[in-house]
Amino acid sequence: MIDLHCHIDLYPNPDSVLKRADDAGVYTLSVTTTPKAWCGTNNMGKKYKRVRTALGLHPQLAHERYGELSLFEKLLPEVQYVGEIGLDKSKHYKKFYEKQHYVFCEIIKMLNSCGGKIMSIHSLYAVDEVLTILENNPKSGPAILHWFTGNESQLKKAIDIGCWFSIGPKMIGSAKGKKLIPQMPLDRILLETDGPFTQKNNKNPFEPSDTILMADNLSKLLNIQKSDMKKIILNNFKSLTSFNS
Ligand code: MN
Repeated sequence: MIDLHCHIDLYPNPDSVLKRADDAGVYTLSVTTTPKAWCGTNNMGKKYKRVRTALGLHPQLAHERYGELSLFEKLLPEVQYVGEIGLDKSKHYKKFYEKQHYVFCEIIKMLNSCGGKIMSIHSLYAVDEVLTILENNPKSGPAILHWFTGNESQLKKAIDIGCWFSIGPKMIGSAKGKKLIPQMPLDRILLETDGPFTQKNNKNPFEPSDTILMADNLSKLLNIQKSDMKKIILNNFKSLTSFNS
């Protein structure tokens, strides 16, 4: 299976998480929240062949870390994936929106001019703003909206401009997710845990190896055979990553 959005560097023991993912044959996109975190996090993943590390600058940190944009630009040629990036207008972060907007636009402009990268994007309470920026920069690369929480018309717009969707455990279990997920194009859905920020019933964080069970839960929601669901997701992953080859 695949986990297209996981914060490997934020688990207490990242290597054991990666080892369990590797043993389960799960592909992991290890996202980062600051450019300074990229080198160390990339090193953690290097010994596993199914791990890639994305270069990120999280919108919730943009106001403190905008000075790392030059490091972002320097590291960009080394990566195939960018994330976590985006905008966040939730209660505690909307006051920093101006800085977030500046950082996100600078990153998207860099991507648009380098031919694009696969992106994992945060859009909490800022779906319209994210989609407008993506629409204005059509060469920035395939955009994966992670943990989509927008409404139906925002979903339609996102589909129209070609976005992908990485679906996490909280989406599969929520009423909103149950309504929106079946409206997503079957050939543009992926899985994510967003671990360690999502917890299972036993309070342990979700991790990449859990995506195997998540695929089964998604198959029930979409009324698709378990084995077909896994094939669909793996085919989508292949089609997404063909952008890099
Ligand atoms: Mn995240």
